[in-house]
Amino acid sequence: MRRTVIAGNWKMNMTPSATKAFIEELAPMVKGMDKCDIVLCVPFVDIATAVEAAKGTNIRIGAENVHFAKSGAYTGEISAEMLCEIGTEYVVIGHSERRQYFGETDETVNLRTKAALEAGLKVILCLGEVKEERLAGITDEVVTMQTKLDLAGISAEQLKNVIIAYEPVWAIGTGLTATPEQADETCGVIRAAIAGLYGEAAAEAITIQYGGSMNDGNAAELLAKVNVDGGLIGGASLKTDKFTAIVKAANA
Ligand code: PEP
Repeated sequence: MRRTVIAGNWKMNMTPSATKAFIEELAPMVKGMDKCDIVLCVPFVDIATAVEAAKGTNIRIGAENVHFAKSGAYTGEISAEMLCEIGTEYVVIGHSERRQYFGETDETVNLRTKAALEAGLKVILCLGEVKEERLAGITDEVVTMQTKLDLAGISAEQLKNVIIAYEPVWAIGTGLTATPEQADETCGVIRAAIAGLYGEAAAEAITIQYGGSMNDGNAAELLAKVNVDGGLIGGASLKTDKFTAIVKAANA
């Protein structure tokens, strides 16, 4: 059985002191909710504080990006080794905001994914179509191509540490949510692409999350779908009560 993973993506929100207060409030609220893995992906400067605050709880900590080089002249970037040394377990790669505003391509997403996996991080690999692609009826082709390009050269063994987050770009931060049927169908297309690359068993085993305005009101019906194995949550992960309600839905 594949694991359900509920992950928060804080984006550029929360200072270290706010991080500590948030996790201290959240931890008792989600205690014992162990039918899913709970992850908070936080800004780089918050990671050490988050790891410390989450010690002894069922909350795991992730980063929101990682560079592909081991070290070198990449001003402002952070390596996988640096993340590992401070206790980071997960990393979000290929988020649409990185693709849209910071020039990420499937090639750099692939390089970052390889570097993260080699260092022992678990990767939350984001992909999804833009509005024009959905309207043009080419969503399946787009997510299949992204799956192939982003995972190029990644072994079946390494794939065990990859979670895919299907995030239709038109639904991120917009308040628009894919219908449960759309989410299920496109997560299914991604699963079929994984089956083509790695075989049926790997496709059955991989966790595929939905992300895009998931909240306490719509989580239950999205998570009920057979191909939706969790959520990557932006806005609603910044409030302990909303995030807890989503974790609760995943534990129902
Ligand atoms: C995200 O940041 O990955 C996301 C899905 O954001 P939101 O939940 O705010 O749409």
